[in-house]
Formats: sequence, C-alpha cells, structure tokens
Amino acid sequence: MSTVVAQKAQASDVGAQIVVAMRSMGVAPIPRNYQLFYEAYLGSNPALTKDLAALGVRATQEELDELIHAHIGGGGMNVIEQAHSRLSTELDALLRILRQEQTSLESYGRLLGETATRINSKTNFSVDLVRNAIGLLTEATGETIAQGEKTAEGVAQRSREFDEVRKELDEYKRIANTDSLTRLSNRRAFDEKLAAIYNDSMQLPVTALVLADIDHFKKINDTYGHPVGDKILASVASVLRSTLRKDIFVARTGGEEFAFIIEGNTMEEVMGLCERVRRSLETRPFRNSRSGVDYGPITISIGFAMGSQAEDAGELYSKSDTALYCAKNTGRNRTVFFEEGMRKDYTSKSWLIYKK
Ligand code: GH3
Ligand code: MG
Ligand code: MG
Repeated sequence: MSTVVAQKAQASDVGAQIVVAMRSMGVAPIPRNYQLFYEAYLGSNPALTKDLAALGVRATQEELDELIHAHIGGGGMNVIEQAHSRLSTELDALLRILRQEQTSLESYGRLLGETATRINSKTNFSVDLVRNAIGLLTEATGETIAQGEKTAEGVAQRSREFDEVRKELDEYKRIANTDSLTRLSNRRAFDEKLAAIYNDSMQLPVTALVLADIDHFKKINDTYGHPVGDKILASVASVLRSTLRKDIFVARTGGEEFAFIIEGNTMEEVMGLCERVRRSLETRPFRNSRSGVDYGPITISIGFAMGSQAEDAGELYSKSDTALYCAKNTGRNRTVFFEEGMRKDYTSKSWLIYKK
C-alpha cells in the first residue's frame, strides 16, 4: 500500500470514528461539532478532551458551542467550516425552496447531489485528511438532510392542514358576509365596506353610496304571498348584480333594500349607472312561467350621494337615504342625487337631477 493510500485509509478511518463518536453522543453532525470532536480526537488539547468528556451524552448545542468558543475560537472558521457552511447555506436555501414551492423530495435529492458536487469541485483542499473528512461529513450531513426531509414532509402536511383550515375560514367568512336569499353581500359586509370608504380621502369625490328600495313591495307580499315575494327579491337582486359592473359592491341591506358602493365614477356617471339599473328592472317581465301570473312591473327608487359630500360613513348614509326618500316622495321609480338643503320630507320635483 502506498503511503498516500495508507494515509487516506487512515484518514477515512479517523473520520468514521469521529462521526460514530458524535452519533453515539447524540451530537448533531454539523461542521463545527465535527471540528470539536476532531480536535478532541487529536488529543493536542487535553483541556478540550476533558471538557468534552464532562459534557457526556446529549449535550446541548449551546454547551458544545461554548466549548468550541473556549477551545477552538469562534472567529476564524477553518476550511471545513467554510466549505460546509456554504453547503449548509445552500441546503437551507433548498429547504426554503422546498417549503415554498412544494418541490418533490426527489428533486430535492438531485439538487442536493449537485450542490455537494459543486462544492467539492470548487474547494481546493491540499490535505487528503481534510478531503476525506469532508466526504464523511457530507455523509453525516445526510442524516441532517433526512431529518430535513421529515421536516419538509411535516411542513407539507401542515400546509395542507393549514390550507384546509383556511378554506373553512374563508367559507365561514363568505357565509357571514352573504345574504342567504339573494346571495348578495349582507348588511354586515356592507357596514364594513361603507366604513372603509373614508380610509382613502383622495377617492371620496369619485365614490358613491347608492341606496335602492323596491317600490310598493308590501303589495306584492299581500297579493301573492311571502314566498312569491322572496322569489321576486332574489330576481331583483340578480338583475342588479348582472346589470352593474363586477367591481361594484352590491348588498342587500334590509328587507327590500339594496345598496351599491361605486368607486371611480363621477356623479354624472353614477347617475347613468343607476338609471341603467332602474330601467332594466322596470322593463323586465316578472311572470310565473307555470301559472302565467304576471307580478310586474317591479320598480325601484334610488338615492345617492358622493363620498365628498359627507364627513364620515354615517353622514354619507344619511344623505343617500334623504335622496332616496326624495325619490319616493316625488313619485318613485326614479334616481335622485343628494343636494345640500334636501330634506327627507321634501316633495318638490325641482330637486331631481333626473326626471322621467
Ligand atoms: P315603498 O314604495 O314606500 O318602499 O313601499 P313598500 O311597500 O316597498 O315599503 P314598506 O317598507 O312599507 O314594506 C316593505 C315590505 O317588504 C314589508 C315586508 O313585508 C317586506 N319584506 C321585508 N323583507 C322581506 C323578505 O325577506 N321577504 C319578503 N317576501 N318580504 C319582505
Ligand atoms: Mg319599499
Ligand atoms: Mg323599504
């Protein structure tokens, strides 16, 4: 056996003994621990050997680090530490990618192999002993990787559970914010959305609160019964939803009352949108397809105010409501924009910007 081969075999043997010793003491197979054990194996520092023996099995990493700091010094990383800290950094990055992207364990292994090869080829070690030690350490690091895989599996499992819980929470939230009869947003969701309008004062001049109320709805209930009334409510809701842009918030705020929050439109544009909704409802037939009974026409009255006309959500609601009252008092089936001085009992049509 040549001297070099003999040295390699010896070095490999030494490295293996060190790793075995670390395993038996329950020490994590990480580079700085290996270095500690390697120094202790060499026996050149009796105090270190004694202190390490005194720690016994299952020493904590803090205790080991204290020994490393005291006997080896925390400042200057040796060549093994450097090579393996690079490896660990890459492993950490891989684990992060795995967690984030849910990469398969196979591709994790492949990437890991590539990383190790890259590190080995880049690192120029002159001493075979160090080279072998690195090989052994890489092997030992495999245990850490296996633990990492377990962690990754755990993380994947947790993410799946977390996703399910989140879906359930989303569903609860959706139910809590939805009106069951019309599937529109409910009063609760409306209150939240209305309060949020005043978070962005820049947008107030192009934000409108529109209130709409079905005309003489009580008569529908009285004539055809409550279940028919419910069906008509749901149909009206679907006309509102399908006539208005998707980004417009539409809620059923009470019995036969609805609200829209329109963002990004001027008063004139809002008036145009409201009128489109009002007309599409007015012209839509409400008929029982089986019995042939005609319930229609169904009409709504609409009142609205712009965000900039009020100081807060409460005042805005009150002004839109005043405009709605004005629409009711001046003949129904119309849209009224709030103007300063307007009162709920006002009956003059001179207030109306839109006239039929
Ligand atoms: P106006 O034009 O002044 O708005 O008259 P209206 O009859 O529509 O108004 P009023 O407030 O007098 O009556 C509203 C009716 O809406 C009373 C109630 O029976 C009915 N209503 C409220 N909620 C529901 C519901 O969920 N289903 C049904 N079918 N009817 C409802
Ligand atoms: Mg009504
Ligand atoms: Mg009403």
